[in-house]
Amino acid sequence: SAGSGLFARYDPQMHSGLVERLQLGADLRRALDGDANELQLHYQPTIELRTGDIVGFEALVRWRHPVRGMISPVDFIPLAESTGLIRPLGRWVLAEASRQAVAWGFDQPGRALTMAVNVSGVQFDQPDLPQIVASVLAETGLPPDRLCLEMTESVLMTDTEENLAVLLSLKDIGVKLAIDDFGTGYSSLAYLRRFPVDTLKIDRSFVERLTGAAPDAALARTIVQLGQSLGMATVAEGIEQYAQFLALRRMGCDLAQGYYFSRPLPAGEAGRLLRDPAAI
Ligand code: C2E
Ligand code: CA
Ligand code: CA
Ligand code: CA
Repeated sequence: SAGSGLFARYDPQMHSGLVERLQLGADLRRALDGDANELQLHYQPTIELRTGDIVGFEALVRWRHPVRGMISPVDFIPLAESTGLIRPLGRWVLAEASRQAVAWGFDQPGRALTMAVNVSGVQFDQPDLPQIVASVLAETGLPPDRLCLEMTESVLMTDTEENLAVLLSLKDIGVKLAIDDFGTGYSSLAYLRRFPVDTLKIDRSFVERLTGAAPDAALARTIVQLGQSLGMATVAEGIEQYAQFLALRRMGCDLAQGYYFSRPLPAGEAGRLLRDPAAI
């Protein structure tokens, strides 16, 4: 199929890759329909750098496959995207994270906690994303401003007009919007101004560079300053070391996540951490 006159040798590896993907797709469909709790959310706290307080959690999906064991979202999210299963999966993640946020009292006035949920670019291709979000909020009773949707820069740079309309509707509903992995894509400053974004999440690669063999703080600092001048909050991802924590706090970065504070935790442990932050 690559062109006439071209021959490809049959590679058994290739075949098993395809069969495996088909099988895994069928398994994921079953996991979504089934009630075996193969799919779960883990929660990683977001910390305010100035105070050390927990200000929210990011929900990260986990799949415990009955035969293969834990499968990383890095492996099954692309599969869900290419099979269309990201639609029911994405809705399930939104609903489960929102239910959990209400169970933890995120809907109570006083302490303002935010639940962050990752939304795939493929979900933005569905023009009814705002309706889905609105119905999940109505079902669970989570106030819109306690939910933050994380998207990658590609959402701003492809199907721009359609996605802008979707983001504006989401903004109307009142949810927060964050750009994930910021700095690894190719969003232009003009786009950043145009889209109603609240938060920039500084990709882990820039945090890594703060320490390492040839330390470099320029890029992290530039993103923090960019966020400040656009009136957006900044979150540093993947803080693993005390030195990175200190450097980012000094730069004026607002929030942070990373193994230095906590790994993503099952709901029970995350809830305990929320009640007793001294455990951090
Ligand atoms: P992400 O949204 O950038 O999430 C951060 C990833 O970095 C998570 O991996 C988290 O466990 C990991 N991480 C957090 N702190 C540290 C650290 O200090 N050091 C290191 N090395 N890693 C850290 P995870 O949970 O495997 O998720 C990978 C990616 O899968 C996510 O990247 C996100 O793009 C995607 N994903 C996860 N859950 C969902 C979901 O519910 N929906 C969608 N669409 N994508 C999801
Ligand atoms: Ca994320
Ligand atoms: Ca990220
Ligand atoms: Ca990432």
